[in-house]
Amino acid sequence: MENEILTVTGLFDSHAHYFDRRFEQETDGADLILENEVFSKGIEGVINIGTNSKTNRLCIEQARKYDKMFVAVGIHPEDVICTENIEEDIKDLYSLVDNIEKRKKNKIVAIGEIGLDYHYEGYQKQLQFEYFKRQLELAAELDMPVVIHDRDAHGDCFDIVTEYKNVKGVFHSFSGSAEMAKELVKRDWYISFSGVLTFKNARKTVEVAECIPLEKILIETDAPYLAPHPYRGRIKHSGLMYLTAQRLAEIKSTSIENVISATSKNAKDLFRI
Ligand SMILES: [Zn+2]
Repeated sequence: MENEILTVTGLFDSHAHYFDRRFEQETDGADLILENEVFSKGIEGVINIGTNSKTNRLCIEQARKYDKMFVAVGIHPEDVICTENIEEDIKDLYSLVDNIEKRKKNKIVAIGEIGLDYHYEGYQKQLQFEYFKRQLELAAELDMPVVIHDRDAHGDCFDIVTEYKNVKGVFHSFSGSAEMAKELVKRDWYISFSGVLTFKNARKTVEVAECIPLEKILIETDAPYLAPHPYRGRIKHSGLMYLTAQRLAEIKSTSIENVISATSKNAKDLFRI
């Protein structure tokens, strides 16, 4: 892509998983990508998102190497099945974030990703509820923003987050309705779009982007997942995010520069960077 270097500058990736083994299995490794395709090309920031006690720590370790990488720690709804020991898990999570000095040192800026996922058969709804609520309580107690994962669970996710009026954050790779997005924005939540926005069948997501203000939008890769068109199905990294920004600029009838500066500012405001 000819203009990649120009258009990547200033982008903020609000959601990525650079600890994921796919980077080692399918590329030369996350470090080379981060050095050659991401930070050297002007990416303004990346939130490296943990999903369980092990990956939370991998995220922290990785972020030590890069000035512009920050961390979210949490227990993903699909990971609750592996552990099922909620007291131990919450205690462990708490130990990573319980004081501000520790958070600063480890560059932890949010609790996430947390939420509900009803996609695969056999999901444990009650257990997911418990983990979700305990982590929202933690965010409320520590006054930290949250990163929400909501797959096929829109109604329950909305009801639960709105129970916690003091907790705010972002719904990542949003897949709910335009109506739901508007209600969330009314309550000061952010909505984040991934490469899904560029897919040909993304009509519903495009509709969401049309009806909420740019001031409440973040963009993300969800790397290594959700690569944008025309890279769909391939491994994703933050350097490809300009394609999502470009699509958003088209939808909002504005310039890509405007999209980049607005979404970057929004991410920094939300994560207090
Ligand atoms: Zn994710």
